[in-house]
Amino acid sequence: MCDDIYDLIVIGAGSAGVRVARVAASLGAKVAIVEDTYIGGTCVNVGCIPKKLYVIGSSFPENIIDAEGYGWKIGSLVFDWAKLRSNKETEISRLNKIYGELLLNSDVEVIRGKGTFVNSKQISVNSKLLSAKYFVIASGGWPFQPDLPGIDLTITSNQVFDIKELPKKILIVGGGYIAIEFAGIFSGLGVDTTLSYRGSHLLKNFDREITNHLLKQLQIKGIKIHLDHNVFGFRSSRNSIEVDHSGEFDLNIEQVLMAVGRIPNTRNLGLEFTKVSCAKNGSIETFDNFMTADQSIFAIGDVAGSIELTPVALAEGQALAHYLFGDRDSATVDCSYIPTTVFSQPSLGTIGLTEEEVISKGLVADVYVSKFRPLRNTISDRKESSFFKLLVDVSNEKVIGIHLLGPDAGEILQGFAVALKAGATKIDFDSTIGIHPTAAEELVTMRKPIRRIG
Ligand code: FAD
Repeated sequence: MCDDIYDLIVIGAGSAGVRVARVAASLGAKVAIVEDTYIGGTCVNVGCIPKKLYVIGSSFPENIIDAEGYGWKIGSLVFDWAKLRSNKETEISRLNKIYGELLLNSDVEVIRGKGTFVNSKQISVNSKLLSAKYFVIASGGWPFQPDLPGIDLTITSNQVFDIKELPKKILIVGGGYIAIEFAGIFSGLGVDTTLSYRGSHLLKNFDREITNHLLKQLQIKGIKIHLDHNVFGFRSSRNSIEVDHSGEFDLNIEQVLMAVGRIPNTRNLGLEFTKVSCAKNGSIETFDNFMTADQSIFAIGDVAGSIELTPVALAEGQALAHYLFGDRDSATVDCSYIPTTVFSQPSLGTIGLTEEEVISKGLVADVYVSKFRPLRNTISDRKESSFFKLLVDVSNEKVIGIHLLGPDAGEILQGFAVALKAGATKIDFDSTIGIHPTAAEELVTMRKPIRRIG
């Protein structure tokens, strides 16, 4: 029996789902959103927000140590993991409540439970059938777990935020941004941290020169990094985990974090009862306006193979709602020049083309570089340095790539991203007066290219 008929049912109350639901409701649609785990999705519960809180938490010891160079004498440092974890939980609960209220105030009906298609026009939630004119699948992604012996002894990013005790020694497997961010968090909290990655370069799609520089900075901090390195399995031994690297067992590791990628979350969605198709990598295939192969079903966010960033998921939700219920005749998101930041320590901000992309696209660009020791590191005698890089298309002088490694890279990059998107040229950068003394002024004071590529 069919109980309810909606204009729109959204599966998944993460960044993409909440946005499409709220905007659709504000445009007069009757909307329900179905969520089986956590309101706010990955970003709020096991992603961006708790991650950034832990990055902040783990950065204090360095600041306190550096303060000595500035004349402060501070006693011994005592860290309470349980307190950080519990304060994080309080903040996440506050955000969950805000998300719930936002949906309620937008007249979106929130239904707790797993949504499963029974056909193209109906889903079942808690044994109840719900019908809608349109469905949006926004079920996000899930950490990939390789099929290795003893994998159950390891954790993923879904569990890492809530581990009961801080380990003394951790192995992080992976070379993407999640692995690198957690390496910084654990190392900052005083954990003996090793990163193992099967590839030859961290952050494989980023500018090689900047990631090489990041690698050095992480090593200066004491993080052990093994590249071209494979892990074959795990076995339990009293209070620790033994890790098999080609038959050699590494002992006394208390925690292993697998951060080896994420897969689209299409499990148990009942897609086989619809016409929805999936790509080779498991993501839901979408065509124009985020429509799937089934005309009443749309897919947005991580599950649809979009760039895995919250602002992209939000933009897709916004665009789709206006297309379905507003006055837009298409739903598109401009994915050119998306700025992004890896919250490593130091952080890495990037927008536009890498050197490798300039060459593969057959462009010719001048490369401007500034490598410097941030002022703050001088009298604290911290050895780490920053590395800023601009790529300028020689055919029109436009800045086509900005890559920053250093404290607050994301904060600096956001404003410069507007300039780059607006088509700023190197002359515009040069004619902008710097703010002194800041790290950001380096971007408007680079005068001579160090090389021409392409
Ligand atoms: P999600 O937020 O994953 O939401 C999907 C929701 O659907 C979930 O709540 C899930 O429970 C629910 N769901 C799934 N199946 C069903 C079903 N059948 N029925 C009901 N509900 C269902 N992005 C950034 O921009 N900046 C960052 O700093 C950043 N850091 C990150 C750190 C980590 C550790 C991780 C894992 C991700 C991070 N991301 C970051 C990526 C970002 O979190 C995602 O891109 C974003 O959350 C995608 O939103 P979404 O709505 O597509 O999916």
